Amino acid sequence: MEDLKKLEVWFVTGSQHLYGEETLKQVAEHSTQIAKFIDKDPVIPVRVVFKPVVKSPEEIYQVCVEANTTPTCIGIIAWMHTFSPAKMWIGGLKVLQKPLLHLHTQFNRDIPWSSIDMDFMNLNQSAHGDREFGFMVSRMRLNRKVVVGHWQESQVIKSVEVWMRAAAGWNDWQNARFCRFGDNMRQVAVTEGDKVEAELKFGYSVNGYGIGDLVKMINDVSDSAVAQTVAEYEEIYTVQAPLRKGGDRHSALRDAAKIEIGMRNFLKAGNFKGFTDTFEDLHGMVQLPGIASQRLMAEGYGFGGEGDWKTSALVRAMKVMATGLKGGNSFMEDYTYHFDPNNQLVLGSHMLEICPSIANDKPAVEIHPLGIGGKADPVRLVFNAGSGPALNASIVDMGNRFRLIVNEVVAVDPIESLPKLPVARVLWKPYPDMKTGCAAWILAGGAHHTGYSQNLTAEHMEDFAEMAGVEFVLIGKNSNLYDLKNQLRWNDMYYRHSI
Ligand code: MN
Repeated sequence: MEDLKKLEVWFVTGSQHLYGEETLKQVAEHSTQIAKFIDKDPVIPVRVVFKPVVKSPEEIYQVCVEANTTPTCIGIIAWMHTFSPAKMWIGGLKVLQKPLLHLHTQFNRDIPWSSIDMDFMNLNQSAHGDREFGFMVSRMRLNRKVVVGHWQESQVIKSVEVWMRAAAGWNDWQNARFCRFGDNMRQVAVTEGDKVEAELKFGYSVNGYGIGDLVKMINDVSDSAVAQTVAEYEEIYTVQAPLRKGGDRHSALRDAAKIEIGMRNFLKAGNFKGFTDTFEDLHGMVQLPGIASQRLMAEGYGFGGEGDWKTSALVRAMKVMATGLKGGNSFMEDYTYHFDPNNQLVLGSHMLEICPSIANDKPAVEIHPLGIGGKADPVRLVFNAGSGPALNASIVDMGNRFRLIVNEVVAVDPIESLPKLPVARVLWKPYPDMKTGCAAWILAGGAHHTGYSQNLTAEHMEDFAEMAGVEFVLIGKNSNLYDLKNQLRWNDMYYRHSI
């Protein structure tokens, strides 16, 4: 995965010349201290870089242009220690293309009751200075995150961290390349979408590649490379006896390893960040890529089954956002329900491709027949995912816009063993409850494919949607269908006018 510490967020403090040198010096000192404090906090995933205090329209414009053209800069944190007349910000904000966080803080936590005088009041003006800035950003209808509180407060740091992670995911999408092996699964609607609009809106490109070119790379894989990967399987996973060396299915394991290496070589050669495949177009491949897709996902590649490029890109962004966090992110599908009124559950899985980053136990390498695809039995990793809070996210194309839908869920441990289920799986309960959660998802047009996350929250996804400028629909603990239906209707009207 990418090293997020290579990325920077710029800390930009607004002021003006009115206050004189002495006050501006103090503004700079305080801002430096805040920027350093945030930079040093262990939860902060990227670097925080202090930028000289901006005091004029020219300086503001300059820092925004520099942010746009500096590849390592993934966003700006703005703070008005003093008053910074906001007409000065128009030119800069008009061109700013990087995500913006408005940190509504002040240097002192408490009012110094016994010593406060007009000098103090002259310096510490963010309570009103930030409102002037906020007005302009709202007046310009720009998306940003507003975080309120003292800069040393852990909740403030946490909210900033979440935004930074979303910005890292957003940055990763810019100029990213996603590769499709084969087209969409025939007749499926929700996995389709406008790839031109996606490139305009999201910054990534999606293109198709001939399966024959991939098969050639798979066939070119050397026996020694296959032996090395097979040895890795045996070291990391519990390999089923017939698949082991000397076992009667060992050649299938070698075929699977060959597919994995060939696909990785193809993705590396094309500098791709994710891919899709479809079981309807695998001409020349011996098996469907099961363990290959699973392990490539675990390395950080996005994946979507049946040509689902939107989910592939989303899974990739989620993996970048979650870099270094405990838990994992995977391609997922709502597979089947448990409608016991006392314990309603969703069983999430796919025919093969669930990422082992969400595994709770040591994955087993197994081989089983697959009813569809018409290929040899595919090798796959089988495991249970861990319990705890999680979410499902889906991007759908509504025709005139993209919509990001998130459902908060809680994953639970399997209530029974599933000895005959030959795929990795997760059991979860959707919020606010099974019936409302599923009805809300269906009303919002959410796909059967999702990005499933154990370590991202709705706040990460909302920040991400704001950066992308797309509709965000949250189905969580406080959702009810009455409000949700109205929200969807009102959003429809909003997006008809705002494009
Ligand atoms: Mn599927």
